[in-house]
Amino acid sequence: MPCQSSEELKALVEEARKCTKNGRVADYIPALGKANPNELSIAIYYPDGRCISAGDIEEKITLQSISKVISLALVLMDRGPDYVFERVGMEPTGDPFNSIAKLETTTPAKPLNPMINAGALVVTHMIKGNTVEERFQRLLSFVQEMANDSTVSYCEEVARSEFETANLNRALCYFLKEHKIINEDVEQLLDLYTKQCAIEMNCLSLARIGMVIGMDGVDPLTGKQVLPTDIARICKTFMVTCGMYNASGEFAIEIGIPAKSGVSGGIMGAVPGRFGIGIFGPALDEKGNSIAGIKLLELLSKNYKLSMF
Ligand code: GLN
Repeated sequence: MPCQSSEELKALVEEARKCTKNGRVADYIPALGKANPNELSIAIYYPDGRCISAGDIEEKITLQSISKVISLALVLMDRGPDYVFERVGMEPTGDPFNSIAKLETTTPAKPLNPMINAGALVVTHMIKGNTVEERFQRLLSFVQEMANDSTVSYCEEVARSEFETANLNRALCYFLKEHKIINEDVEQLLDLYTKQCAIEMNCLSLARIGMVIGMDGVDPLTGKQVLPTDIARICKTFMVTCGMYNASGEFAIEIGIPAKSGVSGGIMGAVPGRFGIGIFGPALDEKGNSIAGIKLLELLSKNYKLSMF
């Protein structure tokens, strides 16, 4: 066991919390701007069912970009890697998550990876179903299965707030449509995407999903293979190469844990073969990652030698 008790974890949280003053809560999605910047909480889920935590772990957070890992897993299961990777690439960009720059310079205009917004929009476009409602329900059911919690839902206020202000994502969609990478109605796709990003849960459930990915797709507590091993491997790899946006290289060197962040301040970690981590710390650094969340992972990784490299 790397970290034995919630008390040990609490001390690390208090140390990491000092950084929150150097970060800022995302407010380009107005509803996210209401978060308390000093908040920091963490849960760690072990395969034997033990769970340790610190901070206000009942607090729910929206997944935002963390959802991109789960939508990717779903479309890979639905359509297979060949179909998916014909439409979205496998390479990190080194650009901010919402950048349009590489779409213009890459031919065809296929987004470089599924963790940037352009790539995630293409992935969401590939979710099967006849209506937005049906596609969203399929995704939500899959999230519920991964979290082993049928009460997981989405925050309508955050979804609406993003839908009303998502002009950059609209621009990405129109660009992708012009280049025939997607072919559905842009407002419809944004409706689905913003609901996906607004799926909410607490740190415990986030840690449980991280554990399932870390355990090669098997939920050790139910014995169920929730996603195929090969798809869990692809998810973990993208989390290492692209999960922390254009800070992924430094994060891999300094911390070495497959992780995915979101602008709500969430980070999901999947320590391979060992445990899952769920963090919530809404104050972000300049690249859009939870500033205290990264500090906390750094402390954990150094103290307990968690780097996979
Ligand atoms: N919903 C957010 C957006 O598309 C997700 C981005 C993020 O978490 N980095 O802007």
